[in-house]
Amino acid sequence: MKIVLFGPPGAGKGTQAKSICNRYSIPHISTGDIFRRNIAENTPLGVEAKKYIDKGHLVPDDVTIRMVYDRLEQEDCYNGYLLDGFPRTVKQAEALQYFLSSRKECLTTALLIEVPGSFIIDRMTGRRVCLACGASYHIKYNKPKVQGRCDVCGSDLIQRKDDTEDTVRERLEVYETQTAPLIDFYKSRDLLRTVDGTKAINLVFESICKILGESYDNIKK
Ligand code: ADP
Ligand code: AMP
Repeated sequence: MKIVLFGPPGAGKGTQAKSICNRYSIPHISTGDIFRRNIAENTPLGVEAKKYIDKGHLVPDDVTIRMVYDRLEQEDCYNGYLLDGFPRTVKQAEALQYFLSSRKECLTTALLIEVPGSFIIDRMTGRRVCLACGASYHIKYNKPKVQGRCDVCGSDLIQRKDDTEDTVRERLEVYETQTAPLIDFYKSRDLLRTVDGTKAINLVFESICKILGESYDNIKK
């Protein structure tokens, strides 16, 4: 299973990625989580990435692609992985295709979680995240068992600095101009599958499992 998960900010990628990776026992590679870990540790990559992330802009392609190549070369990726939030530009998608074809591998599916813009501000401003394990909650739609504490690892939950209304609007714009072209990119390669992300979290997961089951069977044929 080599899966790309994409969609607008707040579509539910991180939420669904956790469940998909548990179900299929593959690593969850979230470029946003890797950047945030580097920012917390104040590494040179973190210092560079923060300049863009705080404004709601994309980190430059060369920096991001290098970071993803390094991650995909690690041993736990040998049997598959789920990429959450990468690619986000056509240049990144081409770089991923190049990486895969140089290993005679191919992507199983590029899964788009579709959610209209009208849902996004509410989802993003109510989001609370765990910086330690990357789990994502919502103050109305996906509450933790104990307020302010992560169900998975017990760490404090925080509101991301880039989840303010103004930054979210900027990120939505960036999605439309830079990431939405991936829809045609993957459609033309017959890799695109789409799921309605406006339904409840468990229903979205059911639809995803159905799609992934079918994609996996097709690859084995
Ligand atoms: P992304 O990784 O795509 O930016 P998240 O998975 O972090 O999005 O989800 C954004 C917010 O919306 C979180 O607060 C999450 O709990 C909530 N959320 C995710 N999926 C749904 C859903 N299907 N219905 C309602 N809220 C959701
Ligand atoms: P996310 O956690 O996926 O919402 O990502 C948070 C932020 O990290 C984004 O708004 C971007 O600034 C940056 N980022 C994450 N993934 C990428 C990527 N593939 N390319 C460029 N920037 C990214």
